[in-house]
Amino acid sequence: MKNFKTIEQIIAPPAPHMVGDGFRVNNFFPGTKYIGLKRMSPFFLLDYAAKVDYPPTDTPRGVGVHPHRGFETVTIAYKGKVAHHDSAGNSGVIGEGDVQWMTAASGILHKEYHEKEWSKTGGTFQMVQLWVNLPSKHKMSPPKYQGLGHETFGQYMLPNDLGVLEVIAGDYYGVKGPASTFTPIEMYNVRIKKGANVNFSLPEDYNTGFMVIEGTVILNNKTVHANHFVLFANKGTDIILEAPEDAIVLVLSGKPIDEPLVPYGPFLMNYKEEIMQAYEDLNNGKFGHLED
Ligand code: MN
Repeated sequence: MKNFKTIEQIIAPPAPHMVGDGFRVNNFFPGTKYIGLKRMSPFFLLDYAAKVDYPPTDTPRGVGVHPHRGFETVTIAYKGKVAHHDSAGNSGVIGEGDVQWMTAASGILHKEYHEKEWSKTGGTFQMVQLWVNLPSKHKMSPPKYQGLGHETFGQYMLPNDLGVLEVIAGDYYGVKGPASTFTPIEMYNVRIKKGANVNFSLPEDYNTGFMVIEGTVILNNKTVHANHFVLFANKGTDIILEAPEDAIVLVLSGKPIDEPLVPYGPFLMNYKEEIMQAYEDLNNGKFGHLED
C-alpha cells in the first residue's frame, strides 16, 4: 500500500537574472513566494540556468572573486563546463554531468567561470547551483572541495535498459553516492528513457523537491514540463516518476536544519552578530587571498 507524497506546488521558471556575466539563472528559491527561507532546508537556494547558447569568446564569462561563509555551494553541470578556484587552494573543472561540492564553512573567496577552452568554442550552457546550509556546529569548520565526476556516482540501472538513477549523495535502494554531507541529504540525477517508471520512498519530514531538467514527466499522476520545480508537501513518502518521453530529473531531499537562520549577501549564519563578524573577518583578510 503506497502512501503517496502530496504535491504542494509546481513552480514555473521565474524570470531569469544574471549572476556575473556567465550565469543566466532562474531563482526558484528562496526568491519565490512559494518557498521561504527554510521551506526547502537544508537547501537554501536553487539557481537554475536553463539552456542558453553562448557565442565564442576569449574572455571566459562568469563571476569574479567573492566570499562565502556558513554553507556549501553545489554546482551541477548539465551542458557546458564550469571552472572553480578558491582561496583554500582548491580548483577544479566540471563538465557535463559532473558536480562540484564546495564547502565554504568558515570562509573562502572563490570565482566561478565558464571553462577557458569551452568558452573559445562556446555552446549550450545549462546548470544548477544549490546553496546547502550547514548546522551551527559546522558553520566554522575548515573549507573543503569535492570534485565529483559523474563516473564516481552510484549507479542504479533501471530494468529493460530504460535509464539510470545516479546517486550523488545519500542512498537509493543500497546504491550510495560519493558526496560527503554534514546533514542527511538525498541527491539523485535521474536519466530516464520513454516508458520508464521509477519509485521513490523519501521520509515525510525531509523537505523534497524535484527539478525537471529535460523532458516532460508525470509525478504522482501530475504532468510536469521541463524547467519546472516540484515542491512536495511533508505528507506521505512515496513518489512515482513516469516518463512519457526521455527525461532528466534532479531529486533533492534532506532533513531540515531546525535552527535560526540569518542570510545576508554571500553569508548564511544563525545570528545577525555572526553576519557582522563575517564582514569584519572578510575586511581583516581572514578569508585568505585569491587573484582575480
Ligand atoms: Mn559563489
